[in-house]
Amino acid sequence: MDRARHNPAEGPALDEAYPNSRRVDEGRCVLFGDQRLSVVTGWIRWVSRFRLYPTRSQHALLLEQCGHARYVWNLALEQWSMWSSDKGPTPGFVPQCRQLTDARAAFTWLRAGSQTVQQQALRDFDQAVRNFYAGTHRRPTWRRRGRHEGFRVVGRQAARVVKHNRKWGSVRIPKVGWVRFRLSRTVPAAKSYRVVRDRVGRWYIAFAAIPSPVPAPGTGEVVGADRGVIVSLALSNGELLTCPGLSNREQERLRRLQRRLARCRRGSQRSRRVRAAIAKLDARAGDRRKDWVEKTSTDLARRFDVIRVEDLRIDQMTKRPKPRPDDEHPGRFLPNRRRAKAGLNRAILANGWGAPVRRLEHKAAGRLQKVNPSYTSQTCSVCGHCAPENRESQAVFQCVACGHQTHADVNAAINIAAGRAVSARGETQVPVSLKREPQPAASA
Ligand SMILES: [Zn+2]
Repeated sequence: MDRARHNPAEGPALDEAYPNSRRVDEGRCVLFGDQRLSVVTGWIRWVSRFRLYPTRSQHALLLEQCGHARYVWNLALEQWSMWSSDKGPTPGFVPQCRQLTDARAAFTWLRAGSQTVQQQALRDFDQAVRNFYAGTHRRPTWRRRGRHEGFRVVGRQAARVVKHNRKWGSVRIPKVGWVRFRLSRTVPAAKSYRVVRDRVGRWYIAFAAIPSPVPAPGTGEVVGADRGVIVSLALSNGELLTCPGLSNREQERLRRLQRRLARCRRGSQRSRRVRAAIAKLDARAGDRRKDWVEKTSTDLARRFDVIRVEDLRIDQMTKRPKPRPDDEHPGRFLPNRRRAKAGLNRAILANGWGAPVRRLEHKAAGRLQKVNPSYTSQTCSVCGHCAPENRESQAVFQCVACGHQTHADVNAAINIAAGRAVSARGETQVPVSLKREPQPAASA
């Protein structure tokens, strides 16, 4: 990919586009297996999300706005993809906004939508392109109806929020009007919000805001947490926490629906119905996972002063295994256990390995420490003897030197709590003062 074609001088400053984002610079190098992992820079954004309850007519208007945002995004993507070396640089955010003004003058249906919404879609696309060139994200993809429904509102328009009573509030969405939302917590003073519809058809409004971190208990207690596939989180004090997913019956139903979908004709009414049922089950699993992640991370942040976790690179760990070319038969490939790896990846992702740590980075800012993960599962937490034979099975740890026997994940968690080889660079950043505007650095 030619990285020179992106001109960072074009487009708005990042802090303007994402007032509530903060750059996380985790320049760290971890050894996992034989893979040497490289430095990663990413963005953390905070949102405070509420369930939105539009009326039937508002629902249609919201969908229309989503359609406009998607149309503009896809147009920008098309323009970007059609670039070739003889054409010069692709237009950035500012020239694209001028083109949008012309397009709005030409098309009545586009003019009927909100300019803010359409401009923000361009800004989102600009950010997606920056992320792609920075190497933190994949290529921007096409937005599809039913799958990518959402738009963003910024500026003065985003401040029109009223509270009716303890349970309900309203927000004035441009071109839609006052839409009710459920006040499940206090609304933060935000400069922007995003309206999204999930695949099951629920509407949400997410205000970009930095929540205050959970205060430390002040007991000086340190806990280690080991992430696993069978037990989602094993703590050094012996607690085993499991992320709930679908029940056996629900899993069986999901499998049945997937089989039924495979037999459906593409694009038929029946396939649409089956797809909707699958999306509903997926959403249920996702909701349970998110709920568990939020509760667990808050609980840990409240109970312990220092939380230590393994410094794992989940995106690297869940990569597809490399194909193994067959030297004797050119053009053919040897088995590389791709399906087995896919199963493990699914389990890793289903257990939300990344999410609890990501949330702890927010909630226990400055109190979360990342530990070098090598040999934590093979080392005895009592005598320190390190040998692969110590690991009797997936669940049992039995030290061959001192005979100590315990749950394998708890043993690893104790090693993590002991914090062997805490790398200074692996520690989380000091929290940014709420009074100070976050200072994002220029993207690579
Ligand atoms: Zn031992």
